[in-house]
Amino acid sequence: MNIIETDKQYIANTYKRFPVCLVNGHGSEVYDENGKRYIDMGSGIGVTAFGIADEKWQQAVTDQLGKIQHSSNLYYTEPDAMLAKLLCEKSGMDKVFYANSGAEANENGIKAVRKYAAEHKGSDYYTIITLENSFHGRTLTTLAATGQEVFHKQFTPLTPGFVSVPANDIEAMKNAVKAHKTAGIMIECIQGEGGVKALDYDYVKAIEKLCEEEDLVLLCDEVQSGNGRSGYMYSYMHYGIHPDVVTTAKGLGGGLPIGACLLGGKAGNIFSYGDLGSTFGGNPVVCAGALSILERIDEGLLKEVKEKSDYLFEVFGKAKGIKKVSGMGLMIGLETKKPAGEIVNALIAKGVLCLTAKDKVRLLPALNIPMDVLKEAAELIIAECE
Ligand SMILES: *Cc1c(COP(=O)(O)O)cnc(C)c1O
Repeated sequence: MNIIETDKQYIANTYKRFPVCLVNGHGSEVYDENGKRYIDMGSGIGVTAFGIADEKWQQAVTDQLGKIQHSSNLYYTEPDAMLAKLLCEKSGMDKVFYANSGAEANENGIKAVRKYAAEHKGSDYYTIITLENSFHGRTLTTLAATGQEVFHKQFTPLTPGFVSVPANDIEAMKNAVKAHKTAGIMIECIQGEGGVKALDYDYVKAIEKLCEEEDLVLLCDEVQSGNGRSGYMYSYMHYGIHPDVVTTAKGLGGGLPIGACLLGGKAGNIFSYGDLGSTFGGNPVVCAGALSILERIDEGLLKEVKEKSDYLFEVFGKAKGIKKVSGMGLMIGLETKKPAGEIVNALIAKGVLCLTAKDKVRLLPALNIPMDVLKEAAELIIAECE
């Protein structure tokens, strides 16, 4: 069977795939159906936090598979409770609601913002201010939150109650808050799909202050930037802020689907029985795997992420074909002289898998990528950019 032809015939035509069929791998090295080796600098878009087929994660998942693979949310399970405890300890939040993806985590986070405002200000206070170039997901509500019109067209009408303003312009944010009956503000501290851009430090601080003054719920979307990716446990920690709602997904499950909506501050106890629900949310196999990932994202690992990041910023910063390096930790954007798409395609032939974000080359390697493998990839990337 020709896999690529069969896929093209039977799978909805929504993805522009590279002509590579991945079969297996280990850590940051993956192999295609012809046995060709690639260094994985994309981690399945920041998902396989400890690389492919990580042993400890596999053990956790298979152990749980042999016990109970699903229970429904009518009963308690150990992995759910243990993971929620660890998520709260590591984030400083109070409660967790489990979903199955980033978009779903955001849907539930948006419900938290709306419910707080409805209780404290009235149900006409439902507008959430988001940022231009943001990305919050593909459901009709998270698309409305996403400040990029290219994703909206032909899917309107989207959920009402979202307004986006330019990033790093606090006056624009204040004006938008005043102009609407505003419930809250939703940001990615490091915009991912929008071009791997960390928000300005003072801007994020000013947003937190504005939320305090105006009694707004602050939602940080850490779907991509969370769980150690930025060199901090969550990227808002770089800014020293305390959001009320934090959503996360991608890297949390180590490769299995999970989303989490973390609630604290104003929103810590916002939900009661019946407000939210999910059949698959908190699946014990997925949670057992996530627990084995989150346990290992400690100070030592974050230090390594920062060191690898410093190395990449240094070598890419000196490279002739690279105009600018952006991002934080192991979430890196390269503004290249040649078109990013061309570079990513050429690197596939050289055996390196990279991503793009807008007009940039985007790198999201596994958090534990060995230094020698990272160097090998960096050198190939630099050579290709010239
Ligand atoms: C990927 C992403 C999402 C959407 O996550 P899905 O799991 O694809 O629904 C939401 N927000 C951010 C910041 C993302 O990077």
